[in-house]
Amino acid sequence: MHRARIGALTAALALLLAALAVPRGAAPTSPASGVVASPVAAAVPSALVPVEFGAPSAACRSGLVALTFDDGPSASVTLGLVRTLKRLDVPATFFMVGSRVRSAPATARAVQRAGFSVANHTWSHQQLTALGDRAVRRELARTRREFTAQKLVATSLMRPPYGATNRRIRRDVRALGLYPVLWSIDSLDWTGGSPRRIAHRVIAGLRRHGTNVVLQHDGITNSPSSAKAVPLIVARARQLGYCFAALGPKGGVAPPRPVVRATALPGTEDGPAPVRIRLQLDRPTTRSVRVRLQTVSGSARAGTDFTPANRTVIFPRGVRTAWITVPVVDDDLVEGAEDLRVVLDRPYGVTLTRREVLATIFSDDG
Ligand SMILES: [Zn+2]
Repeated sequence: MHRARIGALTAALALLLAALAVPRGAAPTSPASGVVASPVAAAVPSALVPVEFGAPSAACRSGLVALTFDDGPSASVTLGLVRTLKRLDVPATFFMVGSRVRSAPATARAVQRAGFSVANHTWSHQQLTALGDRAVRRELARTRREFTAQKLVATSLMRPPYGATNRRIRRDVRALGLYPVLWSIDSLDWTGGSPRRIAHRVIAGLRRHGTNVVLQHDGITNSPSSAKAVPLIVARARQLGYCFAALGPKGGVAPPRPVVRATALPGTEDGPAPVRIRLQLDRPTTRSVRVRLQTVSGSARAGTDFTPANRTVIFPRGVRTAWITVPVVDDDLVEGAEDLRVVLDRPYGVTLTRREVLATIFSDDG
């Protein structure tokens, strides 16, 4: 069965359950006194308030692609490439050669400042399998010291030059706390060729739901062409349903982690009309993500003024918008506007930049 279909079924089931649990216009379950302790989520039984999801998008349906650039930093190519990646909103890892970091430290720092990952590609780009253990460790450790000296916070990833590795090299690498990362698609930019040709090679190498790690270079003769291939690669891969992701701490391709933002549309006591909360993910991802949402009394009291909500909102894969309805109770007592807090916590697969928004309930009474 397709994952998307399961997602749609989950959404439909959630709606069905919600509809069963809270008939529209349900009577409040709160005591008539209106005196409720705060925080009230515990004091007043919260209803399984309805959630409606936006339509799933096709973005990311084919899987993930991680871009990597080796042999830099290069004063002539790297900064332009970073600007291109930034404009396209694509993450990338730069496997830097230690001696080149020493020659162009400002460029290396600019890569990091722009939010890209910096990783170890040895000090002098030698074939590690031809070196003894001590020399291998020296190549890596010296680069690491250079990162520190230049105030670079590198990831724990390394890439062996030429992809030359074996059990012994892997052991040496791991002994330094580093993880070796190879690639699944060699752009062959180092053999020459136009941007179009390089892009075509990368696109032809993509595997649906495979681990797509692309090798390009920002520190070789043909790097200007390779950098120009990036917008072509990104546009075509996105068209094909891939999305771009960063390498994780151990070298796997990590699913994008969207930022979730909440906005609240005010409700009214007259009618009454519910408060509507919109949860929005800033980008698509390849997995189902979730966050818990709770309503907490402000001047509007749970049970008396609104039916409290306390539920985990599970976004099906591909879905970026969820609407949560908080029923408003007309108690005929309130004057003017009151508010309640919408609190988000327990994120899974998403980042919370703001944990709380205020929602308003208007009233014309009095
Ligand atoms: Zn290299």
